[in-house]
Amino acid sequence: MSRTLEKLTILSGAAKYDASCSSSGSKRANHNKGLGNSDGMGICHSYTEDGRCVSLLKILFTNHCIYDCAYCVSRRSNDVRRAAFTVEEVVDLTINFYRRNYIEGLFLSSGIFKSADYTMERLVRVAKTLRQQHNFNGYIHLKAIPGASPELLHEAGLYSDRLSVNIEIPSEVSLKKVAPEKNYPDIITPMNYLSDEKDRYKDEKKHIRKTPLFLPAGQSTQLIVGASPESDLQILNLADGLYKQQRLKRVYYSGYVPIATDNRVPVLKAPPLVRENRVYQADWLLRFYHFSVDEIVSEAHPNLDLEVDPKVSYALRHPEKFPVDINKADYEMILRVPGIGVKSAMKIVKSRVHQRLNLDHLQRMGVALKRARFFITCPGSQYQHKDYEAGRLRQMILSSESVARQTPQLSLFG
Ligand code: SF4
Repeated sequence: MSRTLEKLTILSGAAKYDASCSSSGSKRANHNKGLGNSDGMGICHSYTEDGRCVSLLKILFTNHCIYDCAYCVSRRSNDVRRAAFTVEEVVDLTINFYRRNYIEGLFLSSGIFKSADYTMERLVRVAKTLRQQHNFNGYIHLKAIPGASPELLHEAGLYSDRLSVNIEIPSEVSLKKVAPEKNYPDIITPMNYLSDEKDRYKDEKKHIRKTPLFLPAGQSTQLIVGASPESDLQILNLADGLYKQQRLKRVYYSGYVPIATDNRVPVLKAPPLVRENRVYQADWLLRFYHFSVDEIVSEAHPNLDLEVDPKVSYALRHPEKFPVDINKADYEMILRVPGIGVKSAMKIVKSRVHQRLNLDHLQRMGVALKRARFFITCPGSQYQHKDYEAGRLRQMILSSESVARQTPQLSLFG
């Protein structure tokens, strides 16, 4: 195996723990002199600003690190094979993969070797070389290293599409325990700087047409769920603040994978995957369904219900707001009905101006009636669940869904 290939194996493997872009993980060998192959080594998918799905070369620049974060596979005290690319190697790999149509862009993260600036300078050099020497117009997502100087962050913003500073641990108290060399100001300061710079460039663009792009796909971060004792209420409050104050495009959540034991990590059991999924659903409600955090979780219910999704959980905890009259309720309330998505809610509000909507209309609009029927009234709905207490309604929903899950799909050729 060539040295570059060996580095690629080590550094794409180490990058897979970063959820800010998820890996496809596909593996298919080339047989009988066929065309192309897919070994999944470092190729993952991500979404650009305009919603296109692109495949990216996802690697670390190095997995050497001067820090010793207890939850991280690259931490100083972990006994793993180490490697580091040179700037030229990353540039060559990207260009070669791009020319062969394997990828449409690069996701480059890194451990921290020597110092934050020393590392950031190399990441910036990769992006700058790709843009300036190779006229590369593909997607570039770089990791912004906490503690890097504003000058380097500024350059990174000019040559990349997206930057992410990973918070990882959702509270400062827990961060101190599992990553004592890190601190919140070193993470939040670059986020604030980048969001201010992005605004400044946007304003300048209004007056000077030739103003260059600055972080066109914005910023993202990653929070690890389950490596520390924070509740979903704390995690969602933090994410909500990041969307509003730092105007992040995305917060990614990664269920903690206990990669190697370190007794500084307070919760060593992997959190159920379903918790990560529920946090993503709650995040979706914050961003697209106009929910506030305290409608989803509260001091009385600080953690998401693992049995039902956050919208059903909200509806069960607020029987006074249901059933919702589809022909009269406002848009915000229609959005809160389980089984009604943003598109269907918009269609309902637009079309009820012309006619009274019934169940058939709703079905044609894409409403998931199997779920919505417990929470709405309209002609034909025969709403009967008004007097059911939440526990009984929950059982009805769970049993209707488990029947759906157990019913095998009909065979087309049976
Ligand atoms: S600084 Fe980053 S790469 Fe280094 S140990 Fe901590 S999380 Fe891992």
